[in-house]
Amino acid sequence: MSAQILDGKTVSEHLKDEIRARIAKHIANGQRAPHLVAVIVGNNGASETYVASKERNSKSVGMDSTVLRFPETMTEAELLAEIERLNSDLSIDGFIVQLPLPKHIDAQKVTFAIKPEKDVDGFHPYNTGLMLKGIDTLLPATPYGILLMLEYYKIETSGKNCVVIGRSDIVGKPMAALMSRNAYPGNCTVTMCHSKTNNLEFYTKNADILVVASGIPEMVKGDIIKPGAVVIDVGITRVDDASNPKGYSIKGDVHFESAAAVASYITPVPGGVGLMTIAGLLQNTLKAYETKK
Ligand code: NDP
Repeated sequence: MSAQILDGKTVSEHLKDEIRARIAKHIANGQRAPHLVAVIVGNNGASETYVASKERNSKSVGMDSTVLRFPETMTEAELLAEIERLNSDLSIDGFIVQLPLPKHIDAQKVTFAIKPEKDVDGFHPYNTGLMLKGIDTLLPATPYGILLMLEYYKIETSGKNCVVIGRSDIVGKPMAALMSRNAYPGNCTVTMCHSKTNNLEFYTKNADILVVASGIPEMVKGDIIKPGAVVIDVGITRVDDASNPKGYSIKGDVHFESAAAVASYITPVPGGVGLMTIAGLLQNTLKAYETKK
C-alpha cells in the first residue's frame, strides 16, 4: 500500500474537541446546550446503528440528544404533524428524520416540511438553493464532512479534475456542486458520473480526486484509478459475511487494497466518510444553535 489514509477518526475527534469547547463556552455564559433530535420510523437495523452513533456523538460533545422512535405503521400525516411540532419547539435547534422511511411515506414531502433553519441534514431545497448560490448555509452532512476532511489534510483542490460517481440528492449532486464552487475546498473541474455513463474508466482514469457514491460494493478497483489520485469512498453496504459474528461486514464502493496501491490518499470503510458525516451533522447543529442565538 502506498496511499496515506484519510482517517475519519482523527479528523472527527479533532472537530468534536472544537465543538465541545464552543459548547462549554456557551454553557459557561449561561446558555442552554444545543439540542439535536433524531426521528426514526419503523425497524431498520442500519438506521438504528446510524441513529445510535449520532446520539452517542452529540452527547459526547455536550449536546442534548433525543431519539424519537415511531412504529412502521405511523402514517404520513402523523409524521408531518410531528415535524410541525419539532419545527415550532424553541428548545430544539435541529432535527433529522432518518432515511429510509417506510414506503407509504413520501420522503420528499417530509424533507420539504422540515424548517430550513433546523434542517441539520442539509436536505431542504431552500438550503440546496443557498448552497448553489454560494451563500453560507447548512450543507448536506456527508459532502460537508468530506470538505472538512480535505481541509484538515490540506489537500490541494484548485484546478484539479474531480470525478464524482453518483448523482443522488444527498451525496453525488451536492458533492459535485461543492467541489466546483469558487472556494477552498473547491475550484475543481467536476464530472458527475452515473449508471448511464459510458466508459466510466475514461473519467476515473483522469480523476485527480475521485469521490465514489454508487452504493455498489467495491465497484471501483485500482486498475481504473489514476496513479496518485485522492480517493474518497462514500459507500456503506452491509454484505453477508459468515466469518463475522454479526453475520455481515461493511463494504465501501472502492476495492480498498487495489485502490490504496495506486492512490496518494484514500478513505477507509469503515472509519472514513461515515465518521465525517456525523462530524458534519454536529457542525450543522452547532451552527443552527448559534445562528438562532
Ligand atoms: P443512491 O442509490 O441514491 O445513488 C447511487 C448513485 O450511483 C446513482 O446516481 C446511480 O446512478 C449511481 N450508480 C449506480 N450504479 C452505477 C454504476 N455502475 N456506475 C456509475 N454510477 C452508478 O445512493 P446514495 O447516494 O444515497 O448513497 C451511495 C452510497 O453511499 C451508499 O452505499 C450509501 O449507503 C452510502 N452513504 C454513505 C454515507 C456516509 O455517511 N458514509 C451517507 C449517505 C450514503 P443513477 O442515478 O443513474 O441511478
